[in-house]
This record gives sequence, structure tokens and C-alpha cells, in this order.
Amino acid sequence: MTPAVAKRFRSGRACLDFAHTAETPDWREPELVYDRPSLERWLSHILGLAAVRTEPGDVAEAHRLRAAILRLARARTSEQPFDPQDVDVLNAFAAAAPPIPRLTANGALAPLAATAVAGLSAIARDAIDLFAGPLGHRIRVCASPDCAYMFVDASRPGTRRWCSMQRCGNLAKVHTHRDNQAVKDLAR
Ligand SMILES: [Zn+2]
Repeated sequence: MTPAVAKRFRSGRACLDFAHTAETPDWREPELVYDRPSLERWLSHILGLAAVRTEPGDVAEAHRLRAAILRLARARTSEQPFDPQDVDVLNAFAAAAPPIPRLTANGALAPLAATAVAGLSAIARDAIDLFAGPLGHRIRVCASPDCAYMFVDASRPGTRRWCSMQRCGNLAKVHTHRDNQAVKDLAR
């Protein structure tokens, strides 16, 4: 996985990682879910499933859920009310049975295969858990202009600005340092 793709899956939440597979005006990277194999690949990756089985129509359904989650998450990043239609879509997807975990005889978790319907249910349930939970108003957009992905700020003061301090935070520091240096150079 290239760094440009990997950074789409660092939000810390399955529902936001799933939202980040979209192509939007907010970030520069392209659509990741454009056919059944790509849906199977990324849904497996995000949910840690061994395999996902899709049927015709699943890609459109995935896009419908994703668009609702994106708008709901965006509403939270700007403290706007939810669109009730998006809430209905989310609840409808969550109503399907999620992937069922299975224990092996030696006490491990069996490799889990699921349908896309079950996978999308797990994504929708994660979104409900996030929005209604203690971090539901801590969804932020990374302050780095060349990132713009969302993350959940679990820091105690709730003042985190970047999705990743190592990546976007350090880049911002480098830029600030350069800007300061440029100002000093001009002043000379
Ligand atoms: Zn970032």
C-alpha cells in the first residue's frame, strides 16, 4: 500500500476509514471503491475480515451508506444538525446482521468471511457507536491543507489538530519554521 493510500485508513474508526475511500473535493486522492473487487478488498481491509463476498448492486449500496456517513461526520466536524434522511439510511444499514465471529477449538478467532451487507452493517453500527458515544463531538478534520482527512480527537483537552502528529503535525512544523525563516530573511 502506498503512503497516499495508507493515510486514508488512519482515522482510528472503521466508519471514518470507510468514508475516506470516497473521492471528494476535500482531498486529492481518487475513488477507491469503483467495482465489486475493490469493495471486497477495502471492506475486508477496514474491518479486518478474511474475505467479503459481494453481489450485484452492493457497490451502489456501499456508496449510498458512505455518502450518508460522510455528511453526518461533516455535520459533526462543523457542529451542524444531522440530516434526518442520512440518519434513516445509517439506521437501515445497521439493521442487517453484522459479521458473526467464530471461535476455533484452540481458542482463537476463526478467519472471518462476510457478505458486503454484513460488512456495511458493521460500518453503520460503528458510525452509530461513534456519533452517539463520548467522542461523537470530537470528530475533526486534519488541519494540514494537503490532508483534510477526518480523525477522532481522543486527547484529554480535545485540541488535537492533525490526524497524525508524525506526519501532518511535523509537516506543519516544518512549514511554520520555513515561513518564520522567510520572514527573518526578508527582515535582513
Ligand atoms: Zn492529516
